[in-house]
Amino acid sequence: MSTLSQQPASQALRATHAVCPRTNTRGSHVSRVGIVGGGPGGLMTAYFLEKLAGAPLRITLFEASPRLGGKLHTPHFSHAPAPYNSVRYEAGAAEFYDYSIHDDDPLKELIAEMGLSIAFMGGSGLILEDRPVANLEDLRDQFGEAACQAFLNFDGRARGEMSPTEFYHSDFPEGASPSPGEISFETFLRSLPNPRARQIVETLIHSDLATEPRFTSTAYGLQNYLMNDPAYMQLYSIVGGNDLLPRELASRIAAEKCLEHRVENITAEQDGRFLVTTSSQQGDSVEEFDYVVVALPHNQVSRLAFRDEQLAVAIQQHQAYYDYPAHYLRVTILFDSPFWRKTLTESFWMLDRFGGCCLYDESLREPALECGVLGWLLGGQAASDLAHHDDAHLIDLMLDSLPDFLREGRDRFLSGHVHRWIGAVNARPGGVRPLPQPSRHHPAPVKCPRLLLVGDYLYDSTLNGVCDSADYVARWIAGDLTNTI
Ligand SMILES: Cc1cc2nc3c(=O)[nH]c(=O)nc-3n(C[C@H](O)[C@H](O)[C@H](O)COP(=O)(O)OP(=O)(O)OC[C@H]3O[C@@H](n4cnc5c(N)ncnc54)[C@H](O)[C@@H]3O)c2cc1C
Repeated sequence: MSTLSQQPASQALRATHAVCPRTNTRGSHVSRVGIVGGGPGGLMTAYFLEKLAGAPLRITLFEASPRLGGKLHTPHFSHAPAPYNSVRYEAGAAEFYDYSIHDDDPLKELIAEMGLSIAFMGGSGLILEDRPVANLEDLRDQFGEAACQAFLNFDGRARGEMSPTEFYHSDFPEGASPSPGEISFETFLRSLPNPRARQIVETLIHSDLATEPRFTSTAYGLQNYLMNDPAYMQLYSIVGGNDLLPRELASRIAAEKCLEHRVENITAEQDGRFLVTTSSQQGDSVEEFDYVVVALPHNQVSRLAFRDEQLAVAIQQHQAYYDYPAHYLRVTILFDSPFWRKTLTESFWMLDRFGGCCLYDESLREPALECGVLGWLLGGQAASDLAHHDDAHLIDLMLDSLPDFLREGRDRFLSGHVHRWIGAVNARPGGVRPLPQPSRHHPAPVKCPRLLLVGDYLYDSTLNGVCDSADYVARWIAGDLTNTI
């Protein structure tokens, strides 16, 4: 048994490889589960499976990078001088979505189970043409009654299309495509005749969508618009950093964690087992597993080689079904003070630059800080067009994008970091028509029933989605283990 589970959470994220025996002390067969990917999906699968399994099993988690947690990542401004080098920010997922007002919320329950505290986040404001627009009165004053009325009409129509209950259940249509799911969101937006009102809606949702309205469905576009309303859901973060969730999960699972082990290929054997080949600094190694869970984003699944013709074809078809890449670019800047708080006091604002981007007050996550941190989250075309620029240029662009009333930012600049997430999320999660849960997770149910997939792209491109996916797969394997004892 690996001793990693006894390590403090901070060390568990940087554990190394250990060799596991194939049988338990009584000599009976121990089922082996290989999990590919040490992001939230892989860690949740391991955690749920260890809780649910009624039969002996050994889990090995392969992670290509030196760190567990994937896109849940809370780094420091490590290059800044002390004391600023301990200031943290979110480089990946910024917030968690709270659905507990409707019914079960497995992700929120998991976070509570880990003993982590949460803080609610809020942001309803925009910065348009260099001026803050905090409410409808501001909107009316700045852009006139016609734009305000057109925006209110759109808002009413959006709510009419999807109630809070429909919103909560939208990932589980089990094969049915809810109207108006197959119409592009751009078509839906065209029904908003006032160009100013349309620009406001696009600015509000662009960075959440991570794509352009023409590449996604009306249903997904509406979800990303309605999520800003507390009647649909609330937003929260984890006090002390969002990556405390993967740290806590990693510290609680007995699974062997193999960092810097990239899975290169998976071979389906005649007896239903799998050979998993990994590459690491020590060279290539091959291990045999009874079950394999591929817990990767859709753009990484196709980089694995599957050594069985039927399985390879099934994976290609699966990948093609979900192949709607979306993009993020995050630029986070440390300033000597939170100078914007004279005007902006919420957790985030939407800014009408880069096709609409989100400006997070990262330093609100740690209210005792004297310095300030702003995070720009760019999505879609702007993110993919700009990603090739070097960090210094991108930081400069973000400082230039500050509205006139925040111009002092340039003089208060201390340090900046850039994180590129190109193709890392999905523009049309669930595909054009959401599939029943078994079809989402079993790419080759007849040939390779014990090869399963976990991913947020099978649901809604969020941590809630990957949690539901991990839960489904862990339950399936636990059930299969019980049936085969
Ligand atoms: C900028 C940004 C903002 C986001 N904001 C939010 C948000 O506010 N709320 C929300 O709910 N969601 C958000 N998301 C989405 C959220 O981050 C994902 O839902 C979540 O990270 C998916 O987890 P995962 O484990 O499937 O994938 P990942 O987090 O991508 O983890 C996959 C892991 O697999 C590893 N890996 C890749 N290839 C291999 C290989 N061949 N072998 C072994 N390991 C491999 C990777 O190194 C990585 O650690 C955001 C994403 C981004 C990029």
